[in-house]
Amino acid sequence: MIKSTKTTMEILQNILSHDTHKVWEASCNIISLGQDNERMKEFIPYLEDIRTNTRGLNMGGLIVPNQRFIDKAIEIIEFYKKDTGCSCCLLGEDSNPSHEEKNGNMIIQDIIHIENSNYIDYYIVNCMKCNKKYKVFEREYHYLWWEWIPIN
Ligand SMILES: [Zn+2]
Repeated sequence: MIKSTKTTMEILQNILSHDTHKVWEASCNIISLGQDNERMKEFIPYLEDIRTNTRGLNMGGLIVPNQRFIDKAIEIIEFYKKDTGCSCCLLGEDSNPSHEEKNGNMIIQDIIHIENSNYIDYYIVNCMKCNKKYKVFEREYHYLWWEWIPIN
């Protein structure tokens, strides 16, 4: 996801609002900031508030439950609270490698095509913070998502 331009206070107001659409949007905003150490630290003091206020909301979702966005946002804040290792390990199904490159966290080093075709097989993506490399496959199953596999 492309980094949100919302302020931390705006995101907090939304995620604590009990309004399922706002909570969903705010969760996506937090996921989009997942590689930004400075911004993410601002959410740590609110971790318990976020956990309590988002519990038991009926988030809906036609095929895949939207609850996963809240769960991921909370997982990211928990990661920063523990403060161990590089945040690139948080990249996952919602992390488009091109967006992560635009956000300035990752570099796409190579794009491997399926033999004799224009179809992309996978990307080789490098973390700018810890230099870890990932193979990233674009997958489609009900919706578009990405599989990040560490290779070093
Ligand atoms: Zn990293």
